[in-house]
Amino acid sequence: MPEFPVHELLTWYRLNRREMPWRKTNDPYRIWVSEIMLQQTRVDTVIPYYQRFLDAFPTVHDLATADRQEVLKLWEGLGYYSRARNLQDAAQTVSRELNGQLPDSYKDILKLKGIGPYTAAAVLSIAFDKPYAVVDGNVLRVLTRFYGIEDDIRRQSTKNLVQKLADEIIDREHPGDFNQAIMELGATVCTPSRPECWNCPLAAECIANKTASTGQIPFKSPRKKTPHHHIGVGLIRNQSGHLLIALRPEEAMLGGLWEFPGGKKKPNENIKDTVKRELKEELGCMVTLEKELMVVKHAYSHFRITLHAWWCRLSPDSPDPSPRSSQQIRWVKPSDLSNYPFPKANKVLTEKVMKMR
Ligand code: SF4
Repeated sequence: MPEFPVHELLTWYRLNRREMPWRKTNDPYRIWVSEIMLQQTRVDTVIPYYQRFLDAFPTVHDLATADRQEVLKLWEGLGYYSRARNLQDAAQTVSRELNGQLPDSYKDILKLKGIGPYTAAAVLSIAFDKPYAVVDGNVLRVLTRFYGIEDDIRRQSTKNLVQKLADEIIDREHPGDFNQAIMELGATVCTPSRPECWNCPLAAECIANKTASTGQIPFKSPRKKTPHHHIGVGLIRNQSGHLLIALRPEEAMLGGLWEFPGGKKKPNENIKDTVKRELKEELGCMVTLEKELMVVKHAYSHFRITLHAWWCRLSPDSPDPSPRSSQQIRWVKPSDLSNYPFPKANKVLTEKVMKMR
């Protein structure tokens, strides 16, 4: 097994690291926020969100006492909204029970909502210099190539092996820099296709480089086909031109965000019938469909949707809509839609409606 050139990696990192706002602070709260935002999300996307979020909530106490809707509004477009809800819940625990101090032990930090082994290791190493190694997609790629590991990286056993190696090689004096260095190398040099091995501090010992097998390592088995759902939603307009929006239940996917009511099309169902059925089930009302506003396609991590949005009016004999499967409903002026947090596909609808004014 080749010896990992820790010193060369750290020297490379200190000369080549990219500037990022969370690299300019030692504040554990700010580092924690950055790590939560960076889960499943690219650095370039995160930077403006991070800055706006910390302008609004500069301390853990500010986040703890903020209005939930304001937190979600600042997260709007970043996706995986449970991250924002968990972050605020955990901030409330830190603010109320821990005197505003993030725990610096692995066991204690893992008790906070939304902090799993990866985030715990990242925050502890970067903010507190604790020797916990992180393994994300970049680290998996660098270390499977470096050690010539050909096993499927979707398998937990492969991830465990890489975690074990990372735990062994982490620099105990500079664990935060080590973790960031290896992730940075994966993001900028040891990229998925066409890695720049000639420019890499690990090149002399790297097995994938020496055996010209960067095209085969890491091996990732094909993903199972993701399900695709057609969703029918209704934009119900009242006499004053206000639109009805519904608040998703807190515990559901996209919980705490607003949406236009609707739901999943059943097999062999016409999409217009889906809209009518869903609005009846969700709001207890009957609607007449007017015309289609637009169709929006969107991919989540485990499924894709095609959302069919229809303008609707309440039928003359319909009961008033009431929230049955939502937390609450609200009639809003189209110009006020931008005040509410919406998931991505619904946001496309709100933007279209606001342009039509
Ligand atoms: S030498 Fe090439 S394959 Fe090996 S770690 Fe560096 S960039 Fe990746």
